[in-house]
Amino acid sequence: MMAQYLEIKDAHKDALLFYRMGDFYEMFFDDAVAASEALDIALTKRGKHAGEDIPMCGVPVHSAEGYLLTLIRKGFRVAVCEQMEDPAEAKKRGSKSVVRREVVRLVTPGTLTEESLLEARRHNFLSAYALVRDEAALAWVDISTGEFHVMPLPPVRLGPELARLMPSEVVVSEAQEADLAEIVSESGASLTPLSRAVFDSTSAEKRLCALFEVSSLDAFGQFSRAEVSAMGAVVEYLEITQKGKLPLLRKPHREAQARVMQIDAATRRNLELTHAMNGGRAGSLLATIDRTVTAAGARLLERRVSSPSRVLSVIHDRLAAVDFAVEQGRMRAELRDELRKVPDLDRALSRLGLDRGGPRDLAAIRNGLDQAGQISQHISPLDLPALLKDAAGALVGHDELLDLLDQALIAEPPLLARDGGFIAPGFDEELDEMRQLRDEGRGVIAQMQAQYQQETGISSLKIKHNNVLGYFVEVTATHADKMLSEPLSNTFKHRQTTANQVRFTTVPLSEMETKILNAGGRALEIEKRLFETLRQAILTHADQISVASRALAELDLATSLADLARSEDWARPTVDDSRRLHIEGGRHPVVEQALKKQGGAPFIANDCDLAEGSDGADIWLLTGPNMAGKSTFLRQNALIALLAQMGSYVPARKAEIGLVSQLFSRVGASDDLARGRSTFMVEMVETAVILNQADDRALVILDEIGRGTATYDGLSIAWATLEHLHDVNRCRALFATHYHELTNLAAKLDGVENATVAVKEFEGEVIFLHEVRKGAADRSYGVQVAKLAGLPDAVVERARVVLDALEKGEREGGKKQAVIDDLPLFSAAPAPAPATQKGPDPLEQRLDGIIPDELTPREALNLIYELKALK
Ligand code: ADP
Repeated sequence: MMAQYLEIKDAHKDALLFYRMGDFYEMFFDDAVAASEALDIALTKRGKHAGEDIPMCGVPVHSAEGYLLTLIRKGFRVAVCEQMEDPAEAKKRGSKSVVRREVVRLVTPGTLTEESLLEARRHNFLSAYALVRDEAALAWVDISTGEFHVMPLPPVRLGPELARLMPSEVVVSEAQEADLAEIVSESGASLTPLSRAVFDSTSAEKRLCALFEVSSLDAFGQFSRAEVSAMGAVVEYLEITQKGKLPLLRKPHREAQARVMQIDAATRRNLELTHAMNGGRAGSLLATIDRTVTAAGARLLERRVSSPSRVLSVIHDRLAAVDFAVEQGRMRAELRDELRKVPDLDRALSRLGLDRGGPRDLAAIRNGLDQAGQISQHISPLDLPALLKDAAGALVGHDELLDLLDQALIAEPPLLARDGGFIAPGFDEELDEMRQLRDEGRGVIAQMQAQYQQETGISSLKIKHNNVLGYFVEVTATHADKMLSEPLSNTFKHRQTTANQVRFTTVPLSEMETKILNAGGRALEIEKRLFETLRQAILTHADQISVASRALAELDLATSLADLARSEDWARPTVDDSRRLHIEGGRHPVVEQALKKQGGAPFIANDCDLAEGSDGADIWLLTGPNMAGKSTFLRQNALIALLAQMGSYVPARKAEIGLVSQLFSRVGASDDLARGRSTFMVEMVETAVILNQADDRALVILDEIGRGTATYDGLSIAWATLEHLHDVNRCRALFATHYHELTNLAAKLDGVENATVAVKEFEGEVIFLHEVRKGAADRSYGVQVAKLAGLPDAVVERARVVLDALEKGEREGGKKQAVIDDLPLFSAAPAPAPATQKGPDPLEQRLDGIIPDELTPREALNLIYELKALK
């Protein structure tokens, strides 16, 4: 057995091997050590190998899924190795024969299908990135729903795209592993390098043509070599992990970057689109607006939030669907009640496709299609907008399949096909007959028990069943003598004596048992065959079922967005191809909801009017003290534009949005130590991206840029950044800063307007009004805010004195150092020692050798560390 184990393990070195032994999956050697630690289960020993104990641990098969989940979450891959024959069969070959075993599946983060391993409301994408000469492409698939996409994608766009899709696993050629490791790990996905051969575009094309049964891929569009290579790698990897059983894949769909709003990873994080800053879903925009009632609807919402459109006709169609649902209040409520009953068709279909499904998946398809038919009857008579009309159309036309499933299945079938009992009576004549024989047999046995009790005079006599003896007669030990002597011993053959019982069989009982067994076994066989027939019937309709499922998700999304709009008092935005960003009474959906939950002060709505607005300014420069609401205001306007372009109503009284092509959001010096970069460096790298990429349709949000460095550096950087946005990028921007000096720029630059978040000062305390007004803030109120934060009174008082002195000094044109020296306590601090000259300074020498233009951001960072060490 160990020889077999080692051979199989050798072929799956990079995975933990779950080696099936009876009711357990066992792990040995290093696998056992790693798994016992990861799963917190006991590590034991079994036998010896090369003179050493073999470490071993195991998990029961019936609870293996939970353990699998933990292992996958901890970054392991698991090869599941099953027994491919009955141990009895192996014995027949010889007493030393080992049961034949094979790895039936490789479980990896991107290839999960089990309900318990997946989050119902999220996609689980597997992706592959391919580079062919100077072209590159990303392909991705959700094997739990069959969706298959591809897009050309240059390496610089890989990071943002991974941030949008959030795949759990990315497959790359081993040649690119080193280059891509960092980008992939930043996205949180696990990286799987495969041999270059997997990415060969010629064999990929053949593989794809064979899979989709076409002679040329042109049928689905014109794909580049890189796209073909990426798609081929996805399919090949699925074959490797699923051991030849390919999931149902829909036809590859080519996505165009030009059709969706470009949002990079930092912006997604900042705006907390699908995850809050702490990594959880709660507190994100997605969680706040999710009112969907089906899993597929929730997944569609996630896609829309991650990829708002920038095609006007698409946006208008989506908004029209929501309009309709907003107006039809009663229809909406009824429709949502009906949608709640719709099961997850996509995932049931995918499990059936991989032959991992059970009777409940058949029932899910039946119930889903049935519900779809009812929903269609409900809405078809209405005068539907285009999107919903198409959806209604896709819900019908499944009668034939539905009739079949309706007749074939009982109402609530059991989980596993192997136990039978899911086919409805009346569907298959032979099955009914066999079941009747089996059940009658059981009835006959009940009669036999009564008969034997009478014959023996032992009223406690029972007929029982177990797997070893089959049916047997059981009496308590007190009756043993009577049973074992004549005449009873002629009828009752002794089989077994236990501590308290004695067991017998009889000829008629054995004959009856054979009949029952045969009938029962035959019934099971028939059910298994019928399961396969039904599965195939469903798979031939897989495309239509997918379309119906998508239609149900659209309906769910439109009605849930309408529900949200109504209950939260959101307004319908207009989206056109102007450059306006005109928002009246805008609110931040997440902050507003949080305030509501706290039950305190209400959220204060604010206006925003950029580009082609009343004053024509493209950029608002926002000043105001900390905690006034600057960040909130910035983000709410970005979120409103995003919501509008995903086709939703928006939290505002009125919103006119000129199409936004790219959305950028940056916050100064957020602590990013976990990623090992200096925070200021991160801030600058991210700002550089904006200045290099933003076009005149971009919407840029900069919050306290420059904060991460010394005052004058920071001010200068903020200043230059603002000028660049204004003169070169010519984009729409909201720029929050605490550098009051910047407000002077508004006078110099036509397109820059000052705005401030108002506060009131009352008896030395600040009161936040959260109102955004035109004009510049008069001062920063930092000391007052510090007081609010609970800084000790003594410190606050001291800060006030220092501030007064500094402000006085500034007014009177004094030198800062002099002002500081005048303050008691500070003067006690030693003045910096004058630099002493001794030989050439290594720091200076190193500096002379640097050509900044030739440095990558990474090299620059390393250099900063090096320089610091030289100091
Ligand atoms: P800043 O960026 O100016 O430091 P924030 O935008 O972080 O301030 O806002 C600080 C807090 O003030 C928020 O957490 C929120 O509770 C509250 N707040 C912000 N804007 C508003 C508003 N418009 N109405 C009500 N409360 C607000």
